[in-house]
Amino acid sequence: MEQLIVTTASPEETSELAEKLGTLLGPGDVLTLEGDLGAGKTTFTKGLAKGLDVKRVVNSPTFTIIKEYKGRLPFYHMDVYRLEDSDEDLGFEEYFEGEGVTVVEWAQFIDDRLPDDRLNIEIRRTGDEKRELKFQPAGERFITICKELGK
Ligand code: ADP
Ligand code: MG
Repeated sequence: MEQLIVTTASPEETSELAEKLGTLLGPGDVLTLEGDLGAGKTTFTKGLAKGLDVKRVVNSPTFTIIKEYKGRLPFYHMDVYRLEDSDEDLGFEEYFEGEGVTVVEWAQFIDDRLPDDRLNIEIRRTGDEKRELKFQPAGERFITICKELGK
């Protein structure tokens, strides 16, 4: 299996793992992020942003579908929950194929519009402070990134 599973024992560990991933990412990389409420999606995203040298505070984009941040690369944080059963196109391709890194929450709602090459990440709560993070790479580039992340 090419998937990578990492267990963390604190929010800081999750954040550090995400930060490491952030340093490995490049233009046009797309990540999807799944997990129940309180799993650690926002914690992970904040760490990722740190790895991309984003200085501004990153919060959940609940009321805006897409939030943009400046970092080493542009960073786009999307929450497409409100697009369930909608085929509205907010110009996704320009984000996915652009110079930035995109993280999509509730990506299943725009399944048909996601690029084939992407990194799917699932976070599962396995204890008070324990989380299991499953990284499923699609495409050679993300397979390589996952190998590096697991080192
Ligand atoms: P989500 O965005 O998925 O709803 P958050 O990141 O907002 O989740 O919240 C996760 C909560 O779980 C935070 O209060 C965080 O401190 C806590 N937590 C405890 N252990 C961990 C861990 N190992 N990784 C991430 N978060 C953790
Ligand atoms: Mg959140």
